[in-house]
Amino acid sequence: MPNQYLVPATVRCACPGCNNVRKETNHWFLIIPSTHPEELYTIAAFAIELLYQSDNLLPVCGEACLLKLLSELIKKARPVDAEVIPHKPFAKAAVNA
Ligand SMILES: [Zn+2]
Repeated sequence: MPNQYLVPATVRCACPGCNNVRKETNHWFLIIPSTHPEELYTIAAFAIELLYQSDNLLPVCGEACLLKLLSELIKKARPVDAEVIPHKPFAKAAVNA
């Protein structure tokens, strides 16, 4: 299934409220959902080849849309589990009777 933002010969920005269409000289980026459990997204320079390879990459038309969409995405993302540090209660002072 082709990327929903890729229509023949045209790439449009995935950022809500933006209808920009990619042109040759635009400085676009791709937001790539990570498959690594400790990462949420990777940001890459736009490459049409990548867009053809995956249907879940998000093309954005520039820095403003990149930051706006990324902000929305991370708000919806699963919160990173709080760092689990085994709680070691302070050792009680030995009380010798
Ligand atoms: Zn945009």
